[in-house]
Amino acid sequence: MIPSATPELPDLAGMTLVDVEALVARLGWPKFRSEQVWRWVHDKGARSFDEMTNLSAAQRGELATHTRVGSLTVAEVQTSRDGTQKLRLVTRDGFSIESVLIPDGEKTTQCISSQVGCAVDCQFCATAKLGLKRNLDASEIVDQVYLGRKLLADAGPERRITNIVYMGMGEPLHNYDNLIRSLQILTHNLGAKLSQRRITVSTSGLVPKLERLGNELVRPNLAVSLNAANDAIRDEIMPINRKWNIAKLLGALRAYPLEHRRRITFEYVLLAGVNDSLTDAAQLARLLRDVKCKVNIIPYNPHPEAPYARPSDAAVDAFQNECKRLGMATYLRRPRGDDIDAACGQLANRAQGGAAIVPLRIRKGPPPAPAVD
Ligand code: SAH
Ligand code: SF4
Repeated sequence: MIPSATPELPDLAGMTLVDVEALVARLGWPKFRSEQVWRWVHDKGARSFDEMTNLSAAQRGELATHTRVGSLTVAEVQTSRDGTQKLRLVTRDGFSIESVLIPDGEKTTQCISSQVGCAVDCQFCATAKLGLKRNLDASEIVDQVYLGRKLLADAGPERRITNIVYMGMGEPLHNYDNLIRSLQILTHNLGAKLSQRRITVSTSGLVPKLERLGNELVRPNLAVSLNAANDAIRDEIMPINRKWNIAKLLGALRAYPLEHRRRITFEYVLLAGVNDSLTDAAQLARLLRDVKCKVNIIPYNPHPEAPYARPSDAAVDAFQNECKRLGMATYLRRPRGDDIDAACGQLANRAQGGAAIVPLRIRKGPPPAPAVD
């Protein structure tokens, strides 16, 4: 069992409109109140009952005995020289999580976390070193977006969140029910109104959950952290591969119902001397030749807990050029916010006090498969 947040009054941010309708019916209020209450939190971003001015003081009081608003508080906002902002957010039971706002022309993408830490233990990832502390509940996933939205709104009218990526701390498919609930809430047309086409869920490849995701009504874009073109290397750097190897992963992805003109994104973190040779590029091209996909190449972002290095720019270019020559749609992901440790794989809240960071052990033999289902 993965621990969840301590039970307390439910946060309206984690409630669907159907949940609010049920609550309003229980309170004996007229049905139209459901939409009013829902809009305050999900559309207008209210963070207290006092803001709900079309409810009477008595009604606000009654609502406050059954629910609360606001699961996270902003502890720190760091701004990178490239405009990327990293938010350190604190849960009600005192965990820090991180979320990143990445401006890109007219667009702003928010990268959100799905767990405190992660159980998957990828060898190159800073979040992995925390271990898994607990799942975020749906309100904590959604509240990251509402706080990001507020930060942008306070800065001026010209920027708003256009895209969401579940690429922060944690493995979203390992927190499946809260992931789905958060997607239902964020895409609701009376709330944040984010299009599912502008939401991407990134996974290390939990095959049974990928199969389940394919049957959901709300289906985001899919990004899959492949990071190796053969099982020997993937076993070594992503122990989850010992449970669901590349063949099983690609089998599930081939069966995944992709909508018209949608492609799967593969992420490939380039680690110097590990997976960055031209032979790796050729193997990758062979592996993905019949998959509707594109490949995002992410040069490794260093952090002190992992024994890897970023390849030289020339090696990165050579790898990408070989992929392109072999017909793969490949894109190079520039590191964003790396001066504030906000780039891919660097989210580990050192502000957590370091207590959770376990020292890196040099293992003899292959690493064990993680205990994720
Ligand atoms: N758990 C999910 C989403 C969070 S990790 C997943 O693994 O997909 C988001 C991305 O960051 C993944 O593609 C992962 O491969 C990449 N990543 C992790 N550590 C990294 C690092 N140190 N440098 C660059 N990318 C990294
Ligand atoms: Fe978890 Fe993703 Fe990091 Fe792997 S890369 S440890 S799955 S957060």
